[in-house]
Amino acid sequence: MGTVLRLLKTVEGLRYWLGNQSGSVGLVPTMGALHQGHLSLIRRARCDNDIVVVSIFVNPLQFGPNEDLAAYPRTLDSDAKLCEAAGVDCIFAPSALDFYGPNFNDASALVKVIPPPALVQQLCGKFRPGHFDGVATVVTKLISLVCPQRSYFGQKDGQQLAIIRQLVRDLNLPGAVIGCPIVRETDGLALSSRNQYLDGQERQQAVILYRGLRRAEQEFKAGMRSQHSLVRIDLDYLETAPAVAPQYVELVNPYTLAPLEKVETVGMLAVAAFVGTTRLIDNVVLRARRPIIAIDGPAGAGKSTVARQLAHRLGLLYLDTGAMYRAFTWYVLSQGCDPEDEVSVADLLPKCDIKLVATPSDNGPQHSDVWVNATLVTQAIRTSEVTANVSTIAAQSSVREALVKQQMQYGLAGGVVADGRDIGTHVFPDAELKIFLNASVEERARRRQRDLASRSQSVPELTELTKAISERDYKDSTRKISPLRQADDAIEVVTDSLTIESVLAKLLALYEENVVSDEKS
Ligand code: AMP
Repeated sequence: MGTVLRLLKTVEGLRYWLGNQSGSVGLVPTMGALHQGHLSLIRRARCDNDIVVVSIFVNPLQFGPNEDLAAYPRTLDSDAKLCEAAGVDCIFAPSALDFYGPNFNDASALVKVIPPPALVQQLCGKFRPGHFDGVATVVTKLISLVCPQRSYFGQKDGQQLAIIRQLVRDLNLPGAVIGCPIVRETDGLALSSRNQYLDGQERQQAVILYRGLRRAEQEFKAGMRSQHSLVRIDLDYLETAPAVAPQYVELVNPYTLAPLEKVETVGMLAVAAFVGTTRLIDNVVLRARRPIIAIDGPAGAGKSTVARQLAHRLGLLYLDTGAMYRAFTWYVLSQGCDPEDEVSVADLLPKCDIKLVATPSDNGPQHSDVWVNATLVTQAIRTSEVTANVSTIAAQSSVREALVKQQMQYGLAGGVVADGRDIGTHVFPDAELKIFLNASVEERARRRQRDLASRSQSVPELTELTKAISERDYKDSTRKISPLRQADDAIEVVTDSLTIESVLAKLLALYEENVVSDEKS
């Protein structure tokens, strides 16, 4: 981690600086006038990466001729203080001339990146022609320049996020795109650098954007699904504030942005409105999928036993992520590929389709059948050859990224219980229930002793095991790829002196309290 915040203003300076850094890089692109929304992205980037680069650039290409380019707040000094306090390593704040060259004032003379019409013909794209060409162009330039492992964008700009996800996929840009939740004022208004344009009365009325969405969300939870009704509720609400002039209220798929007639699994209800002369946007993502339960925690806390049984009790799929890594390891070996050869391993990833199929059983927890392409590998992934190679394979970042994507696919339909180190923080940040299953180091050491004894293996001293477990905890929580971290909204359950049955009873009660009663409200 760097120690001193560098403020760099040229492409050359940034390139040179990056060339002297080592470790993973997180990029947070912004237009400055930083607020807590930006800072939530920065904090997330700080947690996930060795190096954090924040770009501050009011991008002329994304402003229309009658928009607020000249008036947009520019507060580099105070932004730099906030970045420094948040542990940012580098601010990249070029001038338009430095970043785009001498044609910076003439968009028609520049090479641009143009998102497909299907992504821009609705929502803001309809009212801001050329805006997303400007966004796609600046983001492509920034990601190509910085080559981050991860770049961070807010759900606040839902259309932008969807476009950037596809942009990074289509152009094979490096790194993962991480979407972060909307940060709001205490009354619900989404934070925005443009909120400072509002006068007192407008500020009061602006909150109606959120209230309308919230009202529609409540009706959605009560069973309302149709686009017509959800949009109507929001519009009716907006009409109650005289200073607010809606530009659009639309229901779309948050990933493809396709307009929806009704929400089958997931929808984004998005709004743009003028409050006085200030244009504000907001959205809410409505999920009609079955719940997801994420169970994270340190090694030896009993996660997989508990997760499997909980899934059985609730009739959900146990997403056995360990089995997925084993399945891919089996595939690598079956192709005669050397597990240490990271390039060849990465090359096999797109060819390996893993499916977990829950098999209900009358007398105990379900087991999952595991398929790789058309082969049933449930037994084959438990051989000692797979066991001996699975950690080598699972430690490779390309494998992690690909399998996390597959896990996220299961999340689209919901109805899963998953356990791991980063399920609640990274794989399923929208999980309805997040549990951090914990136990003291001593307790885990005692459990390990009992476990070894029951398998007639030699049992080390308690102090030796305690030391080994503490070291493992440290490694797990500081490693670069998916470090162990308790999500802010996870509930900690300490299992010292609890039987599996009583842990399960606790989790079932938490499910009842946090998921079932929430669905009813
Ligand atoms: P901007 O400076 O407005 O271009 O925003 C830079 C990044 O911060 C974008 O990815 C935005 O989506 C994100 N962002 C802005 N406001 C918020 C907010 N209230 N909550 C979360 N992210 C936000």
